Amino acid sequence: MYENTLGTVAHEFFHVWNVKRLRPIEFGPWDFSRPANTRSLWIAEGLTNYYGHLMMKRAGIWDESRFLRGEGETINNIENAPGSRLMSAEESSLTAPFMDRAQHIQRTNLANTSISYYPKGELLGLVLDLLIRGRTNGQKSLDDVMRRMYDEFYLNSPNATYYLRGRGYRPEEFQRVVSEVAGIDFSDFFSRYVRSVAMPPYDAALSYVGLRLVQQRVSDNDSGIRLNDRNPGEVVIGNVINGSAAEDAGLQPGDEILTINGKKVTGSGWLTTLDRFKQGDRVPISFKRDRRTLQTTLVIGAMDRFEYRIEEMKDATVAQKALRAAWLRG
Ligand SMILES: [Zn+2]
Repeated sequence: MYENTLGTVAHEFFHVWNVKRLRPIEFGPWDFSRPANTRSLWIAEGLTNYYGHLMMKRAGIWDESRFLRGEGETINNIENAPGSRLMSAEESSLTAPFMDRAQHIQRTNLANTSISYYPKGELLGLVLDLLIRGRTNGQKSLDDVMRRMYDEFYLNSPNATYYLRGRGYRPEEFQRVVSEVAGIDFSDFFSRYVRSVAMPPYDAALSYVGLRLVQQRVSDNDSGIRLNDRNPGEVVIGNVINGSAAEDAGLQPGDEILTINGKKVTGSGWLTTLDRFKQGDRVPISFKRDRRTLQTTLVIGAMDRFEYRIEEMKDATVAQKALRAAWLRG
């Protein structure tokens, strides 16, 4: 709990610069009569996530392996999300009014079609930082980009209003500053990984600091049922994952599972009940949809996913290790 609290403090403290001062142009002056849609939340929140975690390492609270394990887990979460090849970082930013603390507003299929700009932006920050460091031989970094942004838009731009210092940046301006600081044209990076859905070049970026991304295909029993976590006591389906056994069985969000294989299901015990079956087993399920009680058969299936982790390259050079040390030291 103490460590989680420090992580939150690191994130929110970084917001003093990134969002409260340096901000997307849509963030002020405010018009509270409409949503403030912006394509830049992957910068505002995602890069803040990245720096929050990096600061935990730089401050000596986390060691290197703890930091890298966290980044590996974030890669796992993003790259295995059904929406990761459907929604870009910029599109994710635009969906904030439907997603960020707003789930109660309407029922959606966002679990299958969306990603969050927090972890996605964090990973883009990690990859951008390492590409800039690697391609400039350690002369420049994302830190320089953030400082340039702060100078140009907060300190040295005319005030947006009498009370609001500086002005917000546009997405294209962030892209320009990245390219200017690095001395390299990054427009291809932004069109592929920020405005489209290609998998970021993790391995190429990590190799500059003597690290590599290991990926392993795993096949888990997974029915594709995701519970509605708003009512933890009930067995109500929140989402059905695309292409899953639950989808084949015709289950839908909102269905309340009553029995599995004839046995009444209660609270959180339902998952362990399903775990007892093996792939190919046909499991009768009864469920309530609206006022009707219906039956279906769930054919237990597996879903493939990749497991990712960040590892040290065995033949990492002295130069690569020095670049890593400079990155983690700040
Ligand atoms: Zn935040």
